[in-house]
Amino acid sequence: MQPRVQVLQGDITTLDVDVIVNAANPSLLGGGGVDGAIHRAAGPALLEACKQVRQQQGECPPGHAVITTAGNLRAKAVIHTVGPVWRGGDEHEARLLEDAYRNSLQLAEANGYTTIAFPAISTGVYGYPKAAAAEIAVNTITDYLTRHHHLQQIYFVCYDDETTHLYQRLLTQLGDEPTG
Ligand code: ADP
Repeated sequence: MQPRVQVLQGDITTLDVDVIVNAANPSLLGGGGVDGAIHRAAGPALLEACKQVRQQQGECPPGHAVITTAGNLRAKAVIHTVGPVWRGGDEHEARLLEDAYRNSLQLAEANGYTTIAFPAISTGVYGYPKAAAAEIAVNTITDYLTRHHHLQQIYFVCYDDETTHLYQRLLTQLGDEPTG
């Protein structure tokens, strides 16, 4: 496991990273959970930036990602991605969650950013089972990092103990794997 990936527990809005990823909804106009926290911390400039993107591109479908400025946050940019709503697992939820992580990484890299923080997308209001979502997050990101070398540091920012332990276990398992 590369040291490029780290687990933190706490509030993602306080981090000093290039990019904070928001678990947005398709409207891009804010919501509850981490979306609400990011908009509160960033101030009205973030909502204005989101409205502009929405005017130009319309709604953001699940699996897609868009980038805006970051208002009052310490981060330089916010990437808004929409995870899937959990509907039992037969509605392409896994692929859409993977897309959300991968498209966010691609967008950060395309904009020249090197440090990025992710919340546990879809595991709040959208109801994705936490263990399955953590596995997708870790696998998608580690797979991406083996093929792309521009990103320097990725943080998984977990809000609750359960999610933190899930990510820590997954990353430890990867670290224990023989590399040769
Ligand atoms: P979704 O609609 O994609 O499920 P939520 O915001 O409801 O998004 O939840 C996604 C994850 O973000 C959940 O694990 C939730 O506990 C977590 N979360 C909520 N607030 C914050 C915050 N300020 N910082 C980091 N994670 C947060």
